[in-house]
Amino acid sequence: CPILIAEDVRKSYENDAIRVLNGVNFAVHRGQTVALCGPSGCGKSTLLHLMGALDEPTTGRISVNGQWLQRGRSTLHLLRHQVGFVFQLHHLIPGLTLEENCLIPAVAAGTSHADARQRLLQLAERTGIAHRLKQPIQKLSGGERQRTALCRALMNRPGILLADEPTGALDEKTSAQIFSLLMELAQTEEITLVMATHDRSLARQCDRLVEMRDGTVVETSVSSEAK
Ligand code: ADP
Ligand code: ADP
Repeated sequence: CPILIAEDVRKSYENDAIRVLNGVNFAVHRGQTVALCGPSGCGKSTLLHLMGALDEPTTGRISVNGQWLQRGRSTLHLLRHQVGFVFQLHHLIPGLTLEENCLIPAVAAGTSHADARQRLLQLAERTGIAHRLKQPIQKLSGGERQRTALCRALMNRPGILLADEPTGALDEKTSAQIFSLLMELAQTEEITLVMATHDRSLARQCDRLVEMRDGTVVETSVSSEAK
């Protein structure tokens, strides 16, 4: 059974005047790394938001980890342990330190401070920012901020990581580093990764490249290294 399913998903705004997704059918299997490609405005972000329960489809339905998301019911609690989110702009809280930013989701989910710290230390070492834990966000470089955002997304050990242009705001070298880190973490933590990206050279390194156009999935190709 696929870990993520979108079934005839439509999303429109302003009483159907603006149609963003026009019937997306899409399934992702456990452990896959999937790149979502397509021109700006084709609906990649919207689809990721719906799969992460940050928003609801207008019609159609989404299944996460074998559970159909219920309309009108907050599933954020349920999903906190199942889905991590990384954005193009890190969405970290600027007044707080790297450590504080990452501990928040774990403590909010009921993890003890000691356990959360230990988890953070493990992630920070893997992502190469263990020496920066006490730094406020505004003292970190763009790459360090994105590493921090990655750690934060993985604190609660989600089985799924949704990433919306995670390297879009970074220079080429940093972008490649963050991408390898994403792939490495996906593998070692057994995470299913769905990533929207403009970068075709990164997309081709995923197990699957899914093309979107005008609010639908038009093509999906499986790379030669696919599982
Ligand atoms: P992508 O991530 O592929 O660039 P998006 O999913 O961000 O595409 O956006 C798809 C389209 O939906 C864009 O034209 C965007 O302006 C529009 N859109 C997104 N959210 C809203 C909203 N709340 N109201 C109206 N239009 C929206
Ligand atoms: P991202 O940078 O993650 O792709 P966007 O900047 O496209 O996200 O969108 C951020 C938020 O603004 C989303 O909640 C989206 O629904 C909303 N949004 C995007 N485009 C529009 C629009 N044209 N009108 C209203 N809201 C929009």
